[in-house]
Amino acid sequence: MYGSEVTEPDILLAGVELGGTKCVCILGTGPHDIRAQQRLSTTDPVATLHEIESVLEQWRRQHGSFAALGVASFGPLDLKPASRTYGFIKSTTKPGWSHTDVVGRLARRFEVPIGANTDVNGAALAEGRWGAAQGLQNFAYITVGTGVGVGQIVNGIPVFGCSHSEMGHIRVVRMDGDRWPGACVFHGDCVEGLASGTAVEARVGTSADRIATDHFAWRAAAHALGQTLHNLVLTMAPQRIIFGGGVMTLQPHLLNRVRAELQSSLNGYVEVEEITTSIDRYIVAPDLGTLVGPLGALTLASVALQ
Ligand code: ZN
Repeated sequence: MYGSEVTEPDILLAGVELGGTKCVCILGTGPHDIRAQQRLSTTDPVATLHEIESVLEQWRRQHGSFAALGVASFGPLDLKPASRTYGFIKSTTKPGWSHTDVVGRLARRFEVPIGANTDVNGAALAEGRWGAAQGLQNFAYITVGTGVGVGQIVNGIPVFGCSHSEMGHIRVVRMDGDRWPGACVFHGDCVEGLASGTAVEARVGTSADRIATDHFAWRAAAHALGQTLHNLVLTMAPQRIIFGGGVMTLQPHLLNRVRAELQSSLNGYVEVEEITTSIDRYIVAPDLGTLVGPLGALTLASVALQ
């Protein structure tokens, strides 16, 4: 069972948010009781996993054993419980990481229950437990950073069937007149290929924090994200949508733009108060700020104890 009140508040948990450019190890019981945090660069799998293990070993000596470990990783991940490659990273654009065993290696090393899921699903669950989606059973968390990820929580648990969902790679209607081929190595102009920080930087040729807010590239990114929301609202009908990630933090104007893009694209079709009159409370920034990723890993640790 996912969701709130799943763990006694004093159970010590460890988590690893494994991201495309950095990872964060965390030790604690929740947002108000973080005992330690360590940020590491994500390089090649051998060096990165070794560093993670060293941090966790040191904490175990300093703070005592943790009851479970949560791994919130970039994907795609094999999360089928019966799979021989459960907990492996699958084919990825991240050099050197395809087919890397992350969960099995950490499980053998630490011999505690491990809860694993994608970084966006972890972040979504953390917002459900402590943040902007408390009390909700159906909501989504979207991150716009190096890539675009969408964590979809339905009836309190992340959507999962043959795999975890991957809405960051859906195809969308392009903005009028925009024929840029996009930056996703798998799909070209999927959402990630149009709206991720990597895509916008590739398109403009400079770092995202130096691109003016009125640049065409942001308009195109907001349009692609608005199309994603259009599809999300019409399929899972979330009660709230949370937008996080490095690009959204650096470029906060995008939040209002995607709200407007959604309303414009739906064109009055979904007549619910959330979208017609309360969109500022429907599409929101994360309550947990930059802690949402590491706290996602802690939430996954607590899930492993259930
Ligand atoms: Zn793609």
